[in-house]
Amino acid sequence: MTFPQTPSSHPWFAAALLNWYPRHRRDLPWRHTRDPYAIWLSEVILQQTRVKQGLPYYLNFITSYPTVHELAAAPQDEVLRHWQGLGYYSRARNMHHTAQQVVQEFGGTFPGSYEGLLKLRGVGQYTAAAIASFAYDEQVAVLDGNVYRVLARMFGLTQDIAAPASRKVFQQLADTLIPAAQPAEFNQAIMEFGAIQCTPVKPDCLFCPLQSQCYAFQHGMVQELPVKSKAKAARTRYFHYLVLRHEDTLYMRKRGPKDIWEGLYDFALHEAETAELPAQQVVDAVELLGGRFAANQVEEPVRSLRHVLSHQKVEARFHLVQLAEPLPPPALAKAGLVAYRAAAIEELPKPVLITNYLSKYLGVEA
Ligand code: SF4
Repeated sequence: MTFPQTPSSHPWFAAALLNWYPRHRRDLPWRHTRDPYAIWLSEVILQQTRVKQGLPYYLNFITSYPTVHELAAAPQDEVLRHWQGLGYYSRARNMHHTAQQVVQEFGGTFPGSYEGLLKLRGVGQYTAAAIASFAYDEQVAVLDGNVYRVLARMFGLTQDIAAPASRKVFQQLADTLIPAAQPAEFNQAIMEFGAIQCTPVKPDCLFCPLQSQCYAFQHGMVQELPVKSKAKAARTRYFHYLVLRHEDTLYMRKRGPKDIWEGLYDFALHEAETAELPAQQVVDAVELLGGRFAANQVEEPVRSLRHVLSHQKVEARFHLVQLAEPLPPPALAKAGLVAYRAAAIEELPKPVLITNYLSKYLGVEA
């Protein structure tokens, strides 16, 4: 494999980054620890999340669960409640399972090497490399979006970073660059450099210490690199929620597996092909549950909210129905619904879409 910039430049590359890093790095709490648990926690939280958004979540988790034992022993609902608002909830569930695996299979101690860390559920190459280098000073290079960008620009790599096959090429290069003496510092430096200097849009090339060696800058290709093929267009889903209210209780249900928001709470749901649902269909659904209308109709206007996820867009309609009496228990059990008062709803883990609806339209703090 040959690169526009040959690997003979790497001592200079590492030296330049290690010189840049102490003067520019942000002071973040997980950079003051060698505890693999705290490092792992921060890495899980920061995947697909910006530092500013993730920081309060990290502080909350490390305070609520100072060791992996506390996290492993926590109820899943509580973990999801702490995670609420961060999105990608499978990360929270995997994180919880991993904590339990560390306690049950490894006696509460994280495996002490990159290879060992890969045995943990939900720990992929990136996270294993981050923990192994930051906690144990192992010489394994991390590859995240920032690193891909820096390497593609710096060394003129034109492989599509969205294609899994490209990983090998970038990893091979990164492995030649990471110095044996300071692997942790180097990994931190290259990620931070991508996050604040060589940014996706408007990188600060003018004051860049790598400018004279940078392939993209020297060849006018900063905007073209890295090459990344477009993701498929997000599909739109239409969620019609039946919001059943009796006096001060609302009927909610825990979402099942194999779909978004597993383990979070929402309302009785009918998914349709369109944003419109005939009023009669709502009436039929209420009657099927044995419900009796307090007022003989669905409340107007039907509220609408949109929630955009990475691969899908949810268009939600909330059909609010006041009931004259509680729903009969057999129908509740069949539909998986449970009656909750406002204080209990507050404690439930919920998708942001639902918390927005509750606080905006029903005055329920969520
Ligand atoms: S010169 Fe610009 S594109 Fe090249 S490494 Fe520096 S910031 Fe990134």
